[in-house]
Amino acid sequence: MTLFPELCDTVLGTSILGRARAAGKLTVCCHNIRDYSGDPKYHRVDDTPYGGGMGMVMQAEPIFRCYEAVCGQLEGKKPHVIYLSPQGSVLTQQRALELSRMESLVLLCGHYEGVDERILEEIVDEEISIGDYVLTGGELPALVLADTVGRLCPGVLSDDVCFEEESHFSGLLEYPQYTRPPEWRGRTVPAVLQSGHHANILAWRREQSLERTQRKRPDLLAWAQLTDEDRRTLQRLAGEEKSSSAERMWARLVRYHKRYKRRAYSVWSFGSGPEEADELSSLVRRGIKKATASALELYEHRGEPVPQPGDLSVILDGSGEAACVIETVSVSILPFDEVTEEFAALEGEGDRSLAHWKAVHEGFFQKEYAAEGLAFSTGIPVVCEEFRVIFR
Ligand code: SAM
Repeated sequence: MTLFPELCDTVLGTSILGRARAAGKLTVCCHNIRDYSGDPKYHRVDDTPYGGGMGMVMQAEPIFRCYEAVCGQLEGKKPHVIYLSPQGSVLTQQRALELSRMESLVLLCGHYEGVDERILEEIVDEEISIGDYVLTGGELPALVLADTVGRLCPGVLSDDVCFEEESHFSGLLEYPQYTRPPEWRGRTVPAVLQSGHHANILAWRREQSLERTQRKRPDLLAWAQLTDEDRRTLQRLAGEEKSSSAERMWARLVRYHKRYKRRAYSVWSFGSGPEEADELSSLVRRGIKKATASALELYEHRGEPVPQPGDLSVILDGSGEAACVIETVSVSILPFDEVTEEFAALEGEGDRSLAHWKAVHEGFFQKEYAAEGLAFSTGIPVVCEEFRVIFR
């Protein structure tokens, strides 16, 4: 139901929806609300708003008469009535799928300042928006809705698989697509897609979908249908993303300082969570934090090497981005309760006092020891490492 049926008819008469209509898979009729105006001379359907203000408001009666005429063509079956409105719930693939299973939908397109509220109360079941912005009229939103719902209706696309693999259907974005030629301006189609190995192609596409969703729309992952295998893939990809950020920083360092070219480095973040990693990496970048303390026994327990002067590390922030590269300058091992005021100041946290250092590190080491099934005491040997930032 619209004031511009010719606009809608043109769009709905082309491409896949046009063919589906011609083949009788889908019936779409555009009704002109103006045909139901009570004004025989000018066919007016709008009037000024009560209470004053800009613009015009579409009257309830012409819309209601139009609605009754539409219902008359539906053999008494109550249609689901949708008002396209910037105030509605934003359209999603899931809602489109649900709507595609309904027998008949009536779409009401507003114009001007909108429609008289009473018609919404009288006939509308649901308000749908196509996004948080305002358009001139409901026609484009109605066409968007008709297109996305129409292509999900049985028989409209040649094969249901067409949309089942698409972006948003399973909550993930679709994998990248390629067509002939196999090489275009030096860019080649991934070899796996040309291999003909069906299982490998499926695995590659799933991983690409997961990677793209994680990179472009991580918010979607909270609702996506994921298997245990998918979750493992996402964890691995997140790890690779971290190391790739570190690799990029290392590559830049080597470009400026060739002497590091053949040196090994490790990648890690300070603290025990993203917030601490952010805060402490920022202190390091700003030259406030120049030292770090760790528990000797935990290296031994985990079979990890104890830090040595000359060690190089890429430090990550809380979101896994490389913040800087540090070089260990000196390492000394002291019992926890013999760590000095000077070292606490070099650690640069809080008010930089020994009391603050002890309070923070006691809590931190207690958790770390407990996680390894060990008991912390204030006599444990602590690796006191001083470092300098060599690249940021
Ligand atoms: N005054 C209305 C308001 O602030 O809610 C907006 C009226 S708008 C200019 C005119 C018509 O465009 C609306 O009645 C509605 O049918 C349609 N429209 C505008 N933005 C829309 C959106 N984001 N989604 C769906 N329909 C929209």
